[in-house]
Amino acid sequence: MIATQYIKVSEKSIKKKRVNPKLCIGCGVCVGVCPSNANEMVENEYGEYLAVKRNNCNNCGLCLKVCPFVAGNDNEDKIGEEFYGGGEGIQHSSEIGYYKDCYVGYRNNDELRMQSASGGLATSLLEKLLDEDKITAAFCVGPNLGCSGNLYSFQKCNSIDDIRNCTRSVYYPVELSSVIQFILKNDGTYAITVLPCMAKSIRLACKAIPRLSKRIKYIVGLTCGQLKSKAFAEYLCAKAGGDMESLSRLIFRNKVGTSRAGDYKLTFLCKNTDRKSSSHSLRFASDDIFCRVWDTDIFMIKPCAFCDDIFAETADISFMDAWLPEYQGDYKGHTLAVVRDENVNNLIANLDENITTINVNEVVKSQSGVIFKKRSILRFRLLLKRKIINKRKYLLPKLKFPKNVLYLCETFVKEKFRKKSRYIWLASEKNIKQFEDKLFRLYFLLNIFGRIRGKKTILKGTSKRKIR
Ligand SMILES: Cc1cc2nc3c(=O)[nH]c(=O)nc-3n(C[C@H](O)[C@H](O)[C@H](O)COP(=O)(O)OP(=O)(O)OC[C@H]3O[C@@H](n4cnc5c(N)ncnc54)[C@H](O)[C@@H]3O)c2cc1C
Ligand code: SF4
Ligand code: SF4
Ligand code: SF4
Repeated sequence: MIATQYIKVSEKSIKKKRVNPKLCIGCGVCVGVCPSNANEMVENEYGEYLAVKRNNCNNCGLCLKVCPFVAGNDNEDKIGEEFYGGGEGIQHSSEIGYYKDCYVGYRNNDELRMQSASGGLATSLLEKLLDEDKITAAFCVGPNLGCSGNLYSFQKCNSIDDIRNCTRSVYYPVELSSVIQFILKNDGTYAITVLPCMAKSIRLACKAIPRLSKRIKYIVGLTCGQLKSKAFAEYLCAKAGGDMESLSRLIFRNKVGTSRAGDYKLTFLCKNTDRKSSSHSLRFASDDIFCRVWDTDIFMIKPCAFCDDIFAETADISFMDAWLPEYQGDYKGHTLAVVRDENVNNLIANLDENITTINVNEVVKSQSGVIFKKRSILRFRLLLKRKIINKRKYLLPKLKFPKNVLYLCETFVKEKFRKKSRYIWLASEKNIKQFEDKLFRLYFLLNIFGRIRGKKTILKGTSKRKIR
């Protein structure tokens, strides 16, 4: 997170040795490493996790050292260089970080492929790691059946079946405190599936605690555009006609089985107190404006607005959807993989799946929307947050009319939309109609900006190097 290197941690926070809560993504690693159990993860009223400090803190500072959002901690470039920079045949891209090879493919078993987020290669690799005794267990994100307040969490997978119960993408907060505590206490070798910010906090924790680094053998990253709060799940459940209080299972990505890879649906299972269950669904690719949940940043967790790691640059391998014209037409899905670690490269190249190498430029192209959002527009976000960034003026864009002014205005409205979606959801007592009516004006404005901008991105000249 290069951008966060420029965000000042307030004097007060430093004195209290505490991370600015506005920049806490809720990864839980600081809580996992704390030697005094002095901090804990809490959930705020908006359905986001936060680390909170309690009284018996010995001021050792470890929690700050492992936080991906603390200015001064090593950034992705530095960590990437340290772990992969010297590898044979390693290359570097400003968007992707270090990489050895890139792949595209999918599972040969159609049933398993259909149960995955895209092509199922992430699950296939985890199975291989376990099967070849490279790990004792994998920590993956899986459902907590019947637990409406906490639908997903990290699960310890000791068998292939356990791993297969944790497929698909989870757009829901999960945190690592108990995973880190378990690994610190238990000898063994482990793989963990994580988002880019979590990969970074795990790397920082491994640097601070050698025991962790010996045990965490594989960091399996996912490319990430943004993370949503729990309110996102509630909102979509209510929108699908379900009762969010009795929501017991939510599957974010059910492949529809018709035409395109992006045309998936969400499935909600609700079980009320009389044990009556009902099932509801919602198509993500619907025409309904409020289903455009990725463009609008609705319910996005705040630190995501300052994150510029797209491809999990500090992970041994990063998986993502193959958002490319040649693969999008296949509803069963394809996965792209960027590999950095030599051992993982050997494993992935020899997976018994349909897999082939792909040019790195294609991988970059597949994520052009996310690159636009997390790199190009980032400069405008920093500009709007000038109060909390250092005075590094060259970071900020020149406000040339009309293009940059348009981007600035759009970024401003988007941030308002994100912020308001949190407050209004609570203020409208989770009533869909009131909520959507109140947000409609901002949404209308966003639509106008989108139309003026068209689908064009301003990728050129906005790479990370330029940002720095
Ligand atoms: C919040 C989020 C945002 C994403 N943004 C993008 C994006 O912008 N562009 C893109 O191309 N891809 C994105 N992805 C990745 C993509 O959705 C798929 O996860 C990826 O293509 C791998 O597909 P697969 O079929 O190989 O995975 P599968 O075989 O289905 O396995 C998925 C693995 O990911 C793990 N997992 C799921 N959710 C989480 C989570 N929240 N935290 C940690 N581990 C998790 C599961 O435990 C499972 O092991 C995102 C994923 C998430 C969770
Ligand atoms: S400073 Fe040390 S003891 Fe205090 S909360 Fe952080 S890690 Fe725990
Ligand atoms: S380490 Fe993670 S949970 Fe702890 S303060 Fe930083 S972002 Fe929040
Ligand atoms: S956008 Fe960045 S900060 Fe947000 S969840 Fe993804 S990796 Fe973490």
